[in-house]
Amino acid sequence: MPSLTSPCAACKFRQRNCTQGCVFAPYFPAEQRFSNVFHVYGASAVAKMLNEVSPERRKDLADSLAYHAEMRLIDPVNGCFGEVLELRLWKEVYTLELQRREREILERQAEIDQKRRIVEVLKGVLATYGGPAAVDAALNRAAAVADDAAAIADDDAGVNEPTITASDADEPTTTSR
Ligand SMILES: [Zn+2]
Repeated sequence: MPSLTSPCAACKFRQRNCTQGCVFAPYFPAEQRFSNVFHVYGASAVAKMLNEVSPERRKDLADSLAYHAEMRLIDPVNGCFGEVLELRLWKEVYTLELQRREREILERQAEIDQKRRIVEVLKGVLATYGGPAAVDAALNRAAAVADDAAAIADDDAGVNEPTITASDADEPTTTSR
């Protein structure tokens, strides 16, 4: 087969002629790094995998292999699983934080419920007491009784002993006159 003017990354890396039917060429173009994938999987394994999947999925496979290879070289023990472990850790951290916030919300809700119950009890007390209107009515009644008493005292002045305690209270002071 005739060689292309610019070999793909795989052929360039392997120092092979890049043919028109090169399995790597569409997925590992000249500008894309191939060395990571080659180091981790080997060229023949990559070629085998590319041939095993349908053409429309080959780009995803190449991207996935490149990512996996890079992660494997960064973390030889865990590879991509290292990221999974880290994400699991973060998930745990955020789950605990979420649970803490949920407990806080429940505590606040309990406080609000308690205050509502206190308000209900106070309303009950006020209802039994008659409420502000009843207090006003009682004060008005008390004022009316006081007025009547004063009027009776005026009418009886000089005839009978005053019936108002206020006058009685004044009596001891009259001795000084
Ligand atoms: Zn090639």
